[in-house]
Formats: sequence, C-alpha cells, structure tokens
Amino acid sequence: MTNEREDLAARLAASIGELEHQRALVLQLNALKNDLIAVLAHDIKGPLTSIIGFAELLEEGFLEGDAASDAAKTIRTNAQRLATLANDVLELSRVEHGQLEIADDCVNVAELLDGTIESHAGERAIALDRPGTKAIVRGDKARLRQVFDNLIGNALKYSAQDEPVAVTLESETGVWVITVRDRGIGIPAAEVEKVFDRFVRGSNARKAKIPGTGIGLFIVKTIVERHGGTVRATSAAGEGSCFEVRLPAVDSSAETPRRIALVIRNADLRRFVAYELRTRRYSVREAEAVNEIAGDTRRCDVVVVDGDANPEAIRELLGDGSPLRLVGLDGARGDAWDVRLPQPFLVDELLDAIGR
Ligand code: ADP
Repeated sequence: MTNEREDLAARLAASIGELEHQRALVLQLNALKNDLIAVLAHDIKGPLTSIIGFAELLEEGFLEGDAASDAAKTIRTNAQRLATLANDVLELSRVEHGQLEIADDCVNVAELLDGTIESHAGERAIALDRPGTKAIVRGDKARLRQVFDNLIGNALKYSAQDEPVAVTLESETGVWVITVRDRGIGIPAAEVEKVFDRFVRGSNARKAKIPGTGIGLFIVKTIVERHGGTVRATSAAGEGSCFEVRLPAVDSSAETPRRIALVIRNADLRRFVAYELRTRRYSVREAEAVNEIAGDTRRCDVVVVDGDANPEAIRELLGDGSPLRLVGLDGARGDAWDVRLPQPFLVDELLDAIGR
C-alpha cells in the first residue's frame, strides 16, 4: 500500500513538473507573439505608407524625370525593408521552433571570409587580416556565412561611408577568433550586453533612424552557439564596435582524406569522378551497386549514386554505416537526397555537393 502511494506521489510530482514546464513554454511563446505583433505593426506601417504614397503620386502623374526616379527608388528601398523584415521573422520563427538545421561539414573560415567580404566589396572596401593557411571548423557553411554577412553588414550599416571596417582571423589554442570592427555610431555601454536579445535595438540606432529589426544578432548568437562557439561585443557610443566570434578549431589534417563511395553504373563517368576526387586526396571506393559497399566495415562520409537505388533504401541497407551525406546524380530515383547534382556537372559543383 505504502509503495503504491509513494509511486502515485512520484507520478503526480512528475506530472506537475511537466505541466509547469509546458506553462513556462506557453508564456514564453505568448511573449514572443506579442513582441512580434508590436514589431510588425511598427515596422510594416512606415514602409507601406511610403510605398503607397509614392505609388499614388506616380500613378497620378505628379512626378516626372528625377523626381519620378527618386520616388521609384524610395518604393524599392521600402519594399526591400519589408522583404528583409519578412525574412528575419521567418528565420526567427525557425529558430524558436527548433527547426534551425546545422550541417556537420568541415568549413574553411578563411575562405568563407574571403567570399563574404568579396560580396560586400561593391558597398565599401573592407580590410581583412588573416593567416595564409586554412582555418577549419566543423559546421554549416551557409549558416556561418550568414553570421559573417550579418556582422559585416551591421558594421557597414552603422558606420559612415568614409569610416573603416576591418575583419581579422586569428588562431588561439584550439579556437579560431574572428573580429569585425568598425568606427561607427557604436552602442551605448549599458546596452551592449542586450543587443543579442531578440528585437533589441540600440537607442542611438533608433535615434539615427537606421532601419533594422533587432533580430539579426539573436540569430547570429544562436548559430554560433550551435557550433559550440561564443560571440560577444565591445562598444561605446560614438566610438565604434567590435564583434568577436570564437569557434572551436579542427585539426586541418583531420579534414582529408574523406571517404567517398561512388555507386555509379556508367564506368566512364565513375572513373572520371574517382580520378578527380583521388587527385584531391579523397579516399574513393568504387562500386556498381549499393550492396557492394553495404558490407564495408569502414563508414563512408559521402555516397554518390546514380541509377535506380533510392535514398531511403540506401540508408536502410547501410544501417549503422550510413553516410553523412547522400548525393544523387541525375536519373537517381527518390527525393530524400541530401544533394541532387544535375548532369553534366563541373568538378567544382561535385566538390560542393560532397561538402568539401
Ligand atoms: P538590426 O540591425 O536589424 O536592428 P541586429 O540584431 O543585427 O538588428 O542588431 C541589434 C542592434 O544592435 C542594432 O539595432 C544596433 O542598435 C546594434 N548594433 C549591431 N551592430 C552594430 C554595429 N556594428 N554598430 C552599432 N550598433 C550595432
């Protein structure tokens, strides 16, 4: 009897705990919804008013020449702001619902920074100081790109055209340290800690009427933390800002050779792909059918497949030895491929598909 009572009491306590957890979750989601509505109401109305107003002036023929093209530009800028807002909110919702997927690839941060800076080159020159070597971390190339895009984009947005923006990449024991520094409006000292919270915007950014949603840095922090890293800011109003990201380093010798299985029936295509991969220090296993590699004791990182095997069947066949990534060439059946590679493909496209 006592045992039964104790059992019942324990089950009740567990249920109460679970209910409390659910209640906290609901309150948190409700607060998020309220914040979202406030931001949307505020940030949608302004751009919409400008878009509608200028569209009306154009429609009624009040504007001509330069005035008309200025109006069209204002419409485009405001529509762009709405698009950014929509993207940020969708991204935030993905993060809040735990749907932010992070791939587990080897990513060269040095190369990633080159590409990110290159893509902002049209806006302003950005100084990059980095070692000539690779800087390998494990994670998701596109998500990390998003982090640096955001930090560099902010540095450009919150500083004047003639103020320098500098990015550095340095190695410390076991970590890669990336800093993005500007000499712009800065963040008041009392607010620096808060800017990583969602919807938080610096008082001086608002005063200067620089558009923004206060969502970007929250997503930056989430992505960096999902990579096992940290991000922090140091800043003072009027003195510029410095954002520092620290990511766990991976020994670059661990990066290659990766093991790739090629299940390609066409012998010429298979030989060509195998040759290209081997010259890049990949370890390659060639096969005509999936069951040939099923018995292998060594796990493949990537399986490249054409022909009639479908991805679910391959994963089932390989079981515990299932690869990190399945690449389906044109003609391969099924939809659940990690990457589909149309033919003909360039070697660079193939390397991207296998996640170099
Ligand atoms: P957004 O820029 O869209 O408002 P973020 O989440 O990227 O949103 O940034 C949050 C706030 O942090 C910004 O509104 C701004 O006040 C401040 N901030 C971020 N980066 C900088 C920077 N480089 N210089 C000055 N303030 C910044």
